[in-house]
Amino acid sequence: MALGEFDLIERFFKRPARQAATGVALGVGDDCALLQPAPGTQVAISCDMLVEGRHFLPEVDPALLGHKALAVNLSDLAACGAQPRAFTLALALPQSDEAWLAAFSRGLFALADAHGCELIGGDTTQGPLNICITVFGEVPVVAGRSQALLRSGARPGEDIYVSGTLGDARLALEALQGKLDLPAPLLARARARLEQPTPRVALGLALRGVASAAIDVSDGLLGDLGHILKASACGATIDTSLAIDLIAAHAFFETAEGQAGRAQQLALVLAGGDDYELLFTAPESARSAVQAAAQASATPVTRIGRTETQAGLRLVDAQGQPVSGQFASFDHFA
Ligand code: ADP
Ligand code: MG
Repeated sequence: MALGEFDLIERFFKRPARQAATGVALGVGDDCALLQPAPGTQVAISCDMLVEGRHFLPEVDPALLGHKALAVNLSDLAACGAQPRAFTLALALPQSDEAWLAAFSRGLFALADAHGCELIGGDTTQGPLNICITVFGEVPVVAGRSQALLRSGARPGEDIYVSGTLGDARLALEALQGKLDLPAPLLARARARLEQPTPRVALGLALRGVASAAIDVSDGLLGDLGHILKASACGATIDTSLAIDLIAAHAFFETAEGQAGRAQQLALVLAGGDDYELLFTAPESARSAVQAAAQASATPVTRIGRTETQAGLRLVDAQGQPVSGQFASFDHFA
């Protein structure tokens, strides 16, 4: 007999009482959970939904899906410089498949535990597979000022940085969709970026008081940078010669097969989505502080451009000459 709703919650999502999770006064099991933010902090809240066929392929490994569903939410906390504390999970499932649930919850809790982020509640219903997580994080308020990193804090004349690598998730998606052929080891690495992204939580925390603005790259570098520029009312120039090799699989584009693909490589870096890296700005005077934050969090960062007073986003080559091209970022309703 299939597992009922309450048994399913009990078995896969309610865990034995653990040492008091920081900031959580009451977890799963009552009508509400209770959070207890530390004095002098604000609660950062973000919500992300994953829909089958839209955000993941139906055949994806459920353990990786559990990881990714939480990772994309932790990435939003990272972009705000918030310390993860807790999350809720709303789940629509076509059926109560125990093997699927066991793997999904394993992947989910492995990442949750790595960040000390406690599952405090949720909702479970029958329906097409849909996963909706809300995360709660903590940000200090110092001398009456929130330490949260916002999209709106960039000023003209600042450096623009991105963490880690960009474009590999999209490269994997194109390979899985049969649009290009990748050598097996490259596909495996790119696929890990697509299916098991690393939320840059430690970097986000280290950038508090250092970065002027931040966002996580979910829809593509140019599109997400556009959000910072709009919120901060400035423009920017990106040096494509610094950005192009951000793709981890760049070696592929140096091979005979990949030769034709310099433009494609740049497009993947500038507009490929699903990377969950941090894109941020910082004044030139903070260069050594940015490097210190990168080291402290063991997360590489690359400087790729500058913000400017002139509105709009310009792409240039190493000589400062304009680079043309259409690099649309992802928009669900476009
Ligand atoms: P209610 O009917 O009061 O909304 P439910 O019966 O839906 O409560 O859920 C019972 C308890 O189980 C609640 O504490 C709820 O937060 C929790 N819960 C339900 N689904 C999940 C889930 N997928 N993950 C974690 N907790 C869940
Ligand atoms: Mg309910």
